[in-house]
Amino acid sequence: MTTMPRIGLGIDLHRLVPERPCVLAGITLPADVGPAGHSDGDAVLHAACDAVLGAAGLDDLGTLFSDKDPANAGRASGEFCLEAMRRVRAAGLRVVGMDVVVETERPKLAPHRLAMRQSLSRLFAVELDRVNLKGKTGEGLDAIGQGQALRATVVALLADVACDAGD
Ligand code: MG
Repeated sequence: MTTMPRIGLGIDLHRLVPERPCVLAGITLPADVGPAGHSDGDAVLHAACDAVLGAAGLDDLGTLFSDKDPANAGRASGEFCLEAMRRVRAAGLRVVGMDVVVETERPKLAPHRLAMRQSLSRLFAVELDRVNLKGKTGEGLDAIGQGQALRATVVALLADVACDAGD
């Protein structure tokens, strides 16, 4: 049986601040700045959750895990992914593709791309060769270009669990 795939988009912007762990895509990168946030600030996982939830037609991350709720303070965003994927599976869907763009001046992501892809592959139960991630800079312009913030943009493709999705 073949059904139509579903696409979702997630975008997340976080301020970059000193003396904060730089957690991105579920791993901690060596850096002198990190994304600020109520949770661990992992903008990549937040955008990825919103992409898969959006594709499934489900509530977004901010609705599921309010940044006003003290229970979410300092929380590892991997926990948000587990809940998002629980809901995606309950809807009879699976992730069959994910592409990620991270706009930031620092840290440089190239040395960490494989580890970040592997982490996303585990968290969203999608084959490694169907997860990509690239880093871009802000060319010195706006808050990203001046190193004050980073932004993650993620598109995710979902298919029915029962569907081969062209495998
Ligand atoms: Mg966020």
